[in-house]
Amino acid sequence: MLEINALTTELNSDSGLIRAVDALTLTIRQGETFALVGESGCGKSMTALSILRLLPDSGRVMAGSVDLDGTDIMQVPEARMRDYRGRRISIIFQEPSTSLNPVMTVGRQITEVIERHTAVRGEAALAKAVDWLKRVGIPEPERRVNDYPFQMSGGQKQRVMIAIALAAEPDVVIADEPTTALDVTIQAQILDLLKELQQSQKMAMLLITHDLAIVSQMAQRVALMYAGQVVEVAEAAEFFARPLHPYAVNLFDALPDESKRGRELASIAGSVPALNQTFVGCRFADRCADAMDRCRSQVPELGEFSSAHTVRCFLYDSTSVVHKPTHSRQADQQSAAESLAGATVLEVRDYKVWFPIRKGLFQRTVGHVKAVDGVSFSIAAGRTLALVGESGSGKTTVGKALLQLLRGKAQISGSALLSGQPLDHLNGSDLRQARQAVQIVFQDPFASLNPRMRVNEILEEGIASLHPEVTPLERRERVAGLLEKVGLTRGALARYPHEFSGGQRQRLAIARALAVEPKLIVADEPTSALDVSVQAQILNLLKQLQGEMGVAYLFITHNFGVVEYLAHDIAVMKNGQLLETGTAQAILHKPQHAYTKALLAAVPRLVKAA
Ligand code: SF4
Repeated sequence: MLEINALTTELNSDSGLIRAVDALTLTIRQGETFALVGESGCGKSMTALSILRLLPDSGRVMAGSVDLDGTDIMQVPEARMRDYRGRRISIIFQEPSTSLNPVMTVGRQITEVIERHTAVRGEAALAKAVDWLKRVGIPEPERRVNDYPFQMSGGQKQRVMIAIALAAEPDVVIADEPTTALDVTIQAQILDLLKELQQSQKMAMLLITHDLAIVSQMAQRVALMYAGQVVEVAEAAEFFARPLHPYAVNLFDALPDESKRGRELASIAGSVPALNQTFVGCRFADRCADAMDRCRSQVPELGEFSSAHTVRCFLYDSTSVVHKPTHSRQADQQSAAESLAGATVLEVRDYKVWFPIRKGLFQRTVGHVKAVDGVSFSIAAGRTLALVGESGSGKTTVGKALLQLLRGKAQISGSALLSGQPLDHLNGSDLRQARQAVQIVFQDPFASLNPRMRVNEILEEGIASLHPEVTPLERRERVAGLLEKVGLTRGALARYPHEFSGGQRQRLAIARALAVEPKLIVADEPTSALDVSVQAQILNLLKQLQGEMGVAYLFITHNFGVVEYLAHDIAVMKNGQLLETGTAQAILHKPQHAYTKALLAAVPRLVKAA
């Protein structure tokens, strides 16, 4: 149905010409789900935009062809291309909030596609739009067809996006991370829906994702991309049973799950090479434990390993002397230090955080949003409590309230004792002391570090404010030691945050939290913005620091892989209340509450064929 041949896309950037997609060749059959996987920046989304000819102004397709059912759509004039987009090939974007038109009703957005690409008009088009809303599972479609996007939830908006993409019944649909912005239960519904619609419409689907578990459940074939190139293509079952490329093997080893508890996750050293260079050897060579001399001087081609499996690696080349990859798995050799539980650090009892709803001229309080409504839990030194639940359940509000960041904004009641001392009534120097003991690491390492401050200023700020007695020289020594602890060098001290990668910034954020020697760190989705390989480094670091320093973590997350790997205890939250708490073992294997069971059932699992 879709045949992509040597597609090459370049982008102009400040650092020169970037070859984002390099000679990509793929075929997607009718009715097939083909997954394109890889970490951020590997060229997945640029491939999608190149196929649809929707590249940003700085980008150009330099070479290659994209045959859609026999026509090279790279060659058709733009005016005709508009007939192809939507009718023959369409796309579901990652972020429905930015992809839908906020000033048009959802019904109008669907009928626009129907009227543009089919002969159906007016009332009949509207009836079709209602039908599509029904098919994608929007309740009361006759009424909701007149809603604007802001009147819908995130999951409903994504359903509308799917309805728009499928309304003209295209032959091929590209789904670019279609569920990344959604909660697990909504994600499971959307994936089921896509599967069902794809099968009933006999569409070909190019599924772009970084989530290997989703791929294992949805795709028939898989292509793995690295640094702009496809490095492995295989039938999905074959890929999951026998990944060949060292990068693929490393990715699987870096995925956190229960079986790796107590062990260090394998992480991939170094980072993805810049794409503004001419490569003389294998692009993965600097990070590959199996690299040979020829890997640095010759470029490997995509070669056939079996009829269902091709790979770009000299290890599988018949002319190569070495045939057995070593895939040195650090994870198998090292085990992360498990810390022992100590005294209770945090004890929360019947904690409530209510936000007032104000109305009228005098802004009278007419009610409350009960963001957190009577939660109780405790964390001991050296332990990790994972607070799990879907977005809007109140997880982050608990963290912020404990850090005393919601004082004056919300009505807080109940008790939160930090090492026996009530947190909520502290003021002045006592509050400063408490703030030192509880630190936070935020989700977004790009937004949480002040871009105008150098690393030394960021790290020294907390020590200077909470420990004025420490001399500047001692401070400098202390932060240099901290940098080493989180795996960065002294050279980082004089640099600004923008000079670091996402993973390095998250290390800086952890170093900043550790600078004041806290007893408890509230980690709010600290790895959700990171790639799997970087996530593995950060999880290893957090575990190692806990082993060394006995710090307790309140780990707020929706990633169950991380929970299985890291948490000692789990608290499940919904609508501001804790539904179930217990040890990780008990909650993961014998959940009692129906919601916990539903949540666990919705988590996509990696299905590895034997
Ligand atoms: Fe590693 Fe060499 Fe294979 Fe590249 S070609 S992945 S460097 S073994």
